[in-house]
Amino acid sequence: KAVIHRICSGQVILDLSSAVKELVENSLDAGSTVIEISLKEYGEEQFKVIDNGCGISPKNFQSLALKHHTSKISDFTDLHCLVTFGFRGEALSSLCALGSLSVETRTKNESIGTHLTFDHSGAVIKEKKTARQVGTTVTVEKLFSPLPVRCKEFSRNIKREYGKLITLLNAYALIAKGVRLLCTNTTSKGSKSVVLKTQGSSSLKDNIINVFGLNTFQCLTPLHLTLSGDCSIEGFLSKPGNGNGRNSGDRQFFYVNNRPVDMPKVSKMINELYRGSNSKQYPISILNFSLPTDSYDVNVTPDKRKVFFSAEGSLMVSLTEELEKVYSPDQC
Ligand code: ADP
Ligand code: MG
Repeated sequence: KAVIHRICSGQVILDLSSAVKELVENSLDAGSTVIEISLKEYGEEQFKVIDNGCGISPKNFQSLALKHHTSKISDFTDLHCLVTFGFRGEALSSLCALGSLSVETRTKNESIGTHLTFDHSGAVIKEKKTARQVGTTVTVEKLFSPLPVRCKEFSRNIKREYGKLITLLNAYALIAKGVRLLCTNTTSKGSKSVVLKTQGSSSLKDNIINVFGLNTFQCLTPLHLTLSGDCSIEGFLSKPGNGNGRNSGDRQFFYVNNRPVDMPKVSKMINELYRGSNSKQYPISILNFSLPTDSYDVNVTPDKRKVFFSAEGSLMVSLTEELEKVYSPDQC
């Protein structure tokens, strides 16, 4: 049973960035306004997410990291109108199976915090009182150590995993309004560096300036579209024809109702429209799709990055038409 749990967990938590993503989303779900991500050795030794959210109530301690424990969904009909990121109760339980998990937490109803240590099955093995502010800290040590092959891959590719994580944190830093994000890394030699630090602005525009700088922002053009099927799109795209060295593909961010998702088809379409015939550049694109919650499904893959749209065909057609206007030859 433990082996099956470990294997399934390895499908929810694919890598460093999917692990940290789950923790950051939990912090956002908890209403945090300050979230700190602290890494040791780029996350290979340890990663920790510290928030000032609502905290976890003592009545949930024992079941917290058990499979399917969630405080976010009461019955299945809720699935159609979900506003939180989490709802399957898989993240903490998977992280227990794949590393060493501990949680420190305090709600406003408690005068003192609690430090909980879990075993690989998700059971609490140690509980002690600790002083802390209202909020939660989740610490994961030695991710993937129970899976020797994956663990080896993980340390071999750690710099790439780390790079992917930074891109992911940028995705949240851009879209989260009024949430300050801080990410630090401490190397084995003890030197600590700040990887990301944002002010938690209240608009997408200010977040972009915060994350990528004013120069980059000035290369962008705003986009407001209303498409059929109650879909609207807000965001920013590289201005047409400005060859401002947009030659790496890592500044493309897509969201559905503020949730970061992958949209390979949309990305490909934008790249082709922007490039025209011969250029090899990728435009910056930061697009948030507002859609009725019953018109798409993020439950396609365990990491919730993939989306299915019920009307993808017509959405793509009308979006392509609109973007052709932005990138039509006479605009360039
Ligand atoms: P899910 O997010 O799908 O509910 P998780 O395994 O990610 O499942 O988390 C399990 C439960 O633990 C959550 O439903 C929530 O009640 C609690 N929790 C986890 N992280 C936090 C946090 N940072 N702040 C408050 N509660 C949390
Ligand atoms: Mg969660």
